[in-house]
Amino acid sequence: MDVDRVDSVSVVVPIYNEVENLPLLYNALNDVLTKFDREYEMILVDDGSQDGSKAVLRELAAKDSHVKVIELRANFGQSAAMSAGIQAASCDVVVTLDGDLQNDPTDIPMMIAKIEEGYDLVHGWRKNRQDALVNRKLPSKAANWLISRTTGFPVHDLGCTLKAIRREVAQEIELYGEMHRFIPILAHWRGAKCAEVVTKHHARRFGESKYGISRVTRVLLDLITVKYFIQYLVSPMKLFGFVGLMCLALGGLSGAATIFLKMFHEFDMTGNPLLLLSVFSTMVGGQFLAVGMLGELGSRMYYEVRGRQPYAVRHMLNFDQHISIEENRNVRSAA
Ligand code: UDP
Ligand code: MG
Repeated sequence: MDVDRVDSVSVVVPIYNEVENLPLLYNALNDVLTKFDREYEMILVDDGSQDGSKAVLRELAAKDSHVKVIELRANFGQSAAMSAGIQAASCDVVVTLDGDLQNDPTDIPMMIAKIEEGYDLVHGWRKNRQDALVNRKLPSKAANWLISRTTGFPVHDLGCTLKAIRREVAQEIELYGEMHRFIPILAHWRGAKCAEVVTKHHARRFGESKYGISRVTRVLLDLITVKYFIQYLVSPMKLFGFVGLMCLALGGLSGAATIFLKMFHEFDMTGNPLLLLSVFSTMVGGQFLAVGMLGELGSRMYYEVRGRQPYAVRHMLNFDQHISIEENRNVRSAA
């Protein structure tokens, strides 16, 4: 049995007010997928469009049973729409792309071939990106550089939605807020083997981008969250506890200095700013330690409540095929 073979592909596309692009998108996907000899489904997620996209999607679904439509009740954002589509996918590999035809579906077979080489996730790099320089390409270059440096994940273009991901990996990633931009990093954190490939990119022909320059600060804040998750989620005390201990040490030192100055140099204690520093640092240090403990509690609750593990299994050999580690644990605790 070839474990890396991809028999079927789920294409997931978030759609928000893309009415003019939809027929072109369908044709482009249909051309590629009918010629590619794999089972496929196109999951088109309507993210509360108000421009008639919904009616067009319904027509497409009526005409072709490969088209599956999810209509969200309101506009929940690109991450939510992608997440809804990914959770509903049933094929071996999930391919995500934009609904505005900026990504090119003809790249899909090449990306699937890369997955079959043994990768869990293949992400695109819009090397020849067709967007405005000043408010799109430059901030994106800076953000990608910063993200790569901070997370240690080598990446040129996180903003490219065109990705192919093994379904079990894609369905494990939690896309809250606007986390779709960090999918490869979150997958890498869960042990996925990732590869970057150069993909084509076109200018938007119809409709307009849903994001402006304001995304810069939001991406920065998301980066902080992601950094915390990948490095400290399992043991927050390592972060907060360390800061707490440093503060306590500083408090102790400046307290000792205050007493020393009083005893040997007759320096007034209440008039000494070091006294304030020591009181302040000691209090802050205690607070950080308490936050660390709450973090540890939160982390345990996070894994327990979601029925998740702080590790991810790729294969299990010589086990009963139908029992996962989780089920195995339940069976043992029930016995
Ligand atoms: N999108 C969505 N919900 C939103 C915003 C965007 O489903 O709230 C979809 C949009 O229809 C498109 C994709 O996400 O298919 C990417 O959006 P856009 O092209 O505006 O982003 P950009 O290419 O400018 O980064
Ligand atoms: Mg776009």
